[in-house]
Amino acid sequence: MANSPHGGVLKDLYIRDEALQGSLQAEAETLPHVVLTSRQLCDLELILNGGFSPLEGFLTQEEYTSVLHTNRLPNGALWTMPIYLDISSSVLTQLNVSVGSRLALRDPRDDQPLAILTVSSLYQADRSQEATLVYGADDEAHPAVHYLRHNTQDTYVGGPLQAVNAPQHYDYVAIRRSPAEVRALFRKLNWTRVVAFQTRNPMHRAHRELTVRAARMRHANVLIQPVVGLTKPGDIDHFTRVRVYQAIMAKYPNGMAQLSLLPLAMRMGGPREAVWHAIIRKNFGATHFIVGRDHAGPGPNSQGQDFYGPYEAQELVLKYRDELDIEVVPFQMLTYLPDTDEYQPINEVAE
Ligand code: ADP
Repeated sequence: MANSPHGGVLKDLYIRDEALQGSLQAEAETLPHVVLTSRQLCDLELILNGGFSPLEGFLTQEEYTSVLHTNRLPNGALWTMPIYLDISSSVLTQLNVSVGSRLALRDPRDDQPLAILTVSSLYQADRSQEATLVYGADDEAHPAVHYLRHNTQDTYVGGPLQAVNAPQHYDYVAIRRSPAEVRALFRKLNWTRVVAFQTRNPMHRAHRELTVRAARMRHANVLIQPVVGLTKPGDIDHFTRVRVYQAIMAKYPNGMAQLSLLPLAMRMGGPREAVWHAIIRKNFGATHFIVGRDHAGPGPNSQGQDFYGPYEAQELVLKYRDELDIEVVPFQMLTYLPDTDEYQPINEVAE
């Protein structure tokens, strides 16, 4: 486990399992296997590279129940999003999987074995309870509830993982960095204070102003870390967005900011998601994290009301500020002032 002054203990399973790679690869070829969905692939990549530290596998029933009810793992560590491996009971029967089985997890794109899961827990999804506790309502207008109702399988399989291979990417490879690589980049640049910025949208001037403002207030550099895994249905594809991010990087003061991509599968879970995002950015070595208006907001529910208030995500992150190990930089809505051609937080603008 690699240690660093920032970010705490990084559970990089590639580093942990490096010496076993040859034997794990050979074993994976002989094991029953499942082919991951795109969302499971995103989750797996971030468990294996330490983006989801302290997780070292998919949640067991005990961990899942604890996360749902308390926002914590059974050992008390803050963790707000249930990360499980869902598989249909018929597939599990076909593969003869039970507690103690070892299962190879394969990449849906090229069939490579990526990891071996030692099954320690098999449990049934209670979709209604999960939707209500995690997302606030069992309402399919919420993209993650829709996903839960239409795309997840009935049995959740939990247990520790061993890393076999990293998923191969062919797009924007130079700026897809693992937590260990981002921490190394910060060391190389001699950056000791870094404000991370989450985004799933094309960036425009308001975002640039927000991040520069945060950096100046905290005497820090900026890590622009957009999500290139699953985002909200209907979003602009990441191929296009990354070109926008690359273009806007030139508009930052020289040396202030770096761009790095995050293969996260978002849930649009507002408050719980903001805490999860903060933990992930801490793992990448950032010291500060921006949470603005309607962070990871899913939009309106089936009654036309927003699922979460515009500052609910900020409030939950601030509630846990003392144990997050990353400082939250909250922002009110930034608004454009045409007279002076600038952006200001709405609470700082005179009537
Ligand atoms: P997400 O869905 O993850 O919130 P966005 O790209 O919509 O992704 O927003 C990225 C971050 O910027 C979030 O923290 C959001 O609250 C913040 N943000 C975006 N636009 C504004 C704005 N005009 N004023 C304040 N915060 C903003």
